[in-house]
Amino acid sequence: MNVISSNDTIAAVSTPLGEGGIGIVRLSGDDSFRIVDNIFCASDKRKTVSLDTHTIHYGLIKCPETEENIDEVLVSVMKAPNTYTTQDVIEISCHGGLMSLKKVLELCIKSGARLAEPGEFTKRAFLNGRIDLSQAEAVLDVIKSKTDAARHVAVEQLRGVLSQEVEYMRNRGIDILTLIEAGIDFSDEDIEFASVRNITKKIEELCGKVKHILDTSDKGMVLREGASVVICGRPNVGKSSLMNALLRHDRVIVTPIAGTTRDVIEECIDLSGIMIKISDTAGIVDSKDRVEIEGIKRSKERIKNADIVIFMLDASQCITEKDMSIYDVVKDKRTVIVLNKTDLRGKVRESEIRKIFKVKKVVKVSALKKTGLEKVEDALAEMLFGGDIAIPDGAIVTNLRHKKILERIDEVLDRSMEMTGENFNAELLASDINEVVHQLGLIVGKSIEDDILDRIFSQFCIGK
Ligand code: GDP
Repeated sequence: MNVISSNDTIAAVSTPLGEGGIGIVRLSGDDSFRIVDNIFCASDKRKTVSLDTHTIHYGLIKCPETEENIDEVLVSVMKAPNTYTTQDVIEISCHGGLMSLKKVLELCIKSGARLAEPGEFTKRAFLNGRIDLSQAEAVLDVIKSKTDAARHVAVEQLRGVLSQEVEYMRNRGIDILTLIEAGIDFSDEDIEFASVRNITKKIEELCGKVKHILDTSDKGMVLREGASVVICGRPNVGKSSLMNALLRHDRVIVTPIAGTTRDVIEECIDLSGIMIKISDTAGIVDSKDRVEIEGIKRSKERIKNADIVIFMLDASQCITEKDMSIYDVVKDKRTVIVLNKTDLRGKVRESEIRKIFKVKKVVKVSALKKTGLEKVEDALAEMLFGGDIAIPDGAIVTNLRHKKILERIDEVLDRSMEMTGENFNAELLASDINEVVHQLGLIVGKSIEDDILDRIFSQFCIGK
């Protein structure tokens, strides 16, 4: 595996492309200063190499061949090792127009820099040991966070809260291995009873720690990625109206003609800082129309993958066969029944609904008059987090890669628990705990393979 990052100098536009107040071209690597000195004329004529670290300088970017002034800029000088990548870094703050940035970047490349790959600056920070892999992944999460809760958990991970916990568990694993190895070394005699008890206790503790942190993953994943909620019900019950009402704007076309929503429409709402990806489905009742059939297929797929289903009924009409067949599709999901059109004269009562459908949560609303919407939101919060939206303290697992690794560790530890106590088998145990230590290392990027690293960093944008 490629453990040492290369020192060749990379450059990229680090701000989004488009018009803006400023745009930044960033360079990192041994030649950063030489390259910038080739194209930058500081107002005081000094060369960047001679400047103090972490200082900002005003001047012009000039084309070295034509002497043409390209842009008026500020250059931030950051000398190794206290920089984002730990290498020499320069950031050129240009005017935020496409042409200026393109031209400055071109001049950097002509002067010897290489165009950076996606995420390469952060990859260098990782390969040079400034941050570990889970922190590098958190950088992407901070950038992509769409709600305050997602940002908060990402920043905590970037600060190293998860890394510390993982390192702690990894060290406990290494302690256990040392104890087992000591036993194996004296294998002529049986490993001492006190030592077996000690090892068993330590594995139990590690097991508890892993389970505890794994327990945070359901909430953690929702905090990071949001929860998916699907609204379903027969045509005309008011699904689109409810979605618009929850979104607080008209995104979905509402008409009195049944079957208007032929495809799945997804939007996001911010529920006390948590992103709820809410989708309004096409009816999921039989149809002969090819477009509708496709819509129905997609709706069923959505329902299968949803965290919560909102099953909508029309209070002004009796329960129909269609309602029953939709209930059949959603009955195994976490479901809240929303009884809509309560502004009209009711034909169906809540008590009746509770009898017919085995769903605990029933909420009465009028999507048209926008009443009862908070109760829908409360019901979602209740179902997702038992009403407790507060972000738990300490390390939280928010990333699927980490979750899968921890699940694997949990399995191995459960298995190794069977080899403790009376069934003590030092060699098998050592092999299992070795695996645990190795897997924990993968979370923070120890002995991780290149292709996994490439997959992780390819999700970044160029310039990060
Ligand atoms: P969908 O097919 O389930 O998406 O239903 P729509 O949202 O398109 O609504 C169908 C019709 O019911 C439209 O004419 C809406 O204005 C009407 N509607 C929706 N919600 C309510 C409600 O709470 N009360 C009343 N009276 N009409 C509603």
